[in-house]
Amino acid sequence: MHDVVIIGGGPGGYAAALYAHNFGLSVALVEKERVGGTCLIRGCIPAKAWLETASVYQTVARSGEFGVRAAAPILDWRAALARKNKVVDGLVNGLSGLLKSRGVEVHAGFGRLVAGGVEVTGTDGSKTTLPAKATVVATGSVPRSIPGYDIDGVRIVTSDQALDWPTQPRRAAVIGAGAIGAEFASMLADVGSEVHLFEALDQVIPGMEPAAAKTLGRAFRKKGIDIKTGVQVGVPDLSGPGVTVPVGDASVEVDVVLVAVGRAPLTEGVGLEAIGVATDRGFVPVDGETMQTSVAGIYAVGDIVAGTPQLAHVAFAEAIAAITHIATGAVAPVDYRAIPMIVYTYPEVASVGLTEAQAIEHGLDVEVTDHGMRGVGRAIIHGETGGMVKIVAEKNGPIVGATVVDPIAGEIIHELMYAVGWEALPAEAAAFIHAHPTISEGIGETLLAAAGRPLH
Ligand code: NAD
Repeated sequence: MHDVVIIGGGPGGYAAALYAHNFGLSVALVEKERVGGTCLIRGCIPAKAWLETASVYQTVARSGEFGVRAAAPILDWRAALARKNKVVDGLVNGLSGLLKSRGVEVHAGFGRLVAGGVEVTGTDGSKTTLPAKATVVATGSVPRSIPGYDIDGVRIVTSDQALDWPTQPRRAAVIGAGAIGAEFASMLADVGSEVHLFEALDQVIPGMEPAAAKTLGRAFRKKGIDIKTGVQVGVPDLSGPGVTVPVGDASVEVDVVLVAVGRAPLTEGVGLEAIGVATDRGFVPVDGETMQTSVAGIYAVGDIVAGTPQLAHVAFAEAIAAITHIATGAVAPVDYRAIPMIVYTYPEVASVGLTEAQAIEHGLDVEVTDHGMRGVGRAIIHGETGGMVKIVAEKNGPIVGATVVDPIAGEIIHELMYAVGWEALPAEAAAFIHAHPTISEGIGETLLAAAGRPLH
């Protein structure tokens, strides 16, 4: 009998397996593919590898601006795809090795909850049961689509196929301007594809600060992306060689349509309902303190958890909370107040905590401070002065949220993560000295302004 059996080898499942080592638990992990999950195999990691290729391409394209003469860049799509695969394979192999070195028993097959443990159906159809004292369900999510857009993997695709496009799409329509849609639109436009981006809500990256969405929209238009917000796309016409996407009275003709309208929990066939675990439209409600489902001893973490962000780093934190409870009985609840959220477009948009609108919705009386990157020395050196910082603080109170737009926003948001997490007052955070010249000085300047004593 194992102390814990985990279903799913993505960030939620593998983090649970690795963390369990700290407590000397005996662990089995059931995975139907390679370990790594969406994030490593067909999500964060490969998407960022493609974005890196786009960034290098742009560095070369813009080299003249920096006094370096280079021939116009040529994208070798197959080589970029091979590099993406190499990055993914390296991480997957590294993870397999790490699981092995921590003594985790990895079972290849489909896991299903049964009384007292997990039943594994192997690729050859054989069934084995792994008895467990506790189980963690970490089965992740899959892309959704919309009516009329049947995913054929060639002309109508989700991110699953787009990460492995064999050739560069010349003309693409992207439906949904959330993180996935925005990142693909950014990458494709940066390597010279024609991109049409359609979003049902009234801004790109809905849910993030409108000022940041506006800044990103400006950068996107500069890349040539055709952005349409507040629109519904009609049923596509697939009768020709391409795809015609109707939008209002007009239509666009493209070679591929990428549907990026959210991800659905992958809980079908996992046996949750059969064993009495409450679900809500496929998601699994949990007790926020322990990550335990409605059935004692059965835990859920990651994208399947109801009401928490579908982010790899959230899955890691939820796995830690679940394993801590399994191993010690102590509660170590995830602090959802200060989770960084990064959209890895060029430029990046990074946020933590509440937006101004969310803070007001929470009934807070807030004070907002905005600062552009225009006067920040290093931003001028980078040739990227279109960015911004926005800090939301309670009136005479702590910082409750922040947003940064800059090519390296995702790296520098973390100082604001501490500010939000530790409920720092603007004046307390502003008392520390930022190195000069850095992009982070943009944050330092905003903190000084938020504390009522701006410098520049
Ligand atoms: P999302 O929910 O973030 O965005 C989907 C977008 O599609 C929304 O803006 C929605 O308004 C729009 N939409 C829905 N139906 C539409 C329609 N018919 N026409 C036009 N627009 C429509 O989902 P996603 O971008 O698919 O990402 C899935 C999940 O994965 C999210 O939780 C996301 O946060 C996560 N993710 C995160 C990152 C990151 O952190 N960088 C990257 C990729 C994915």
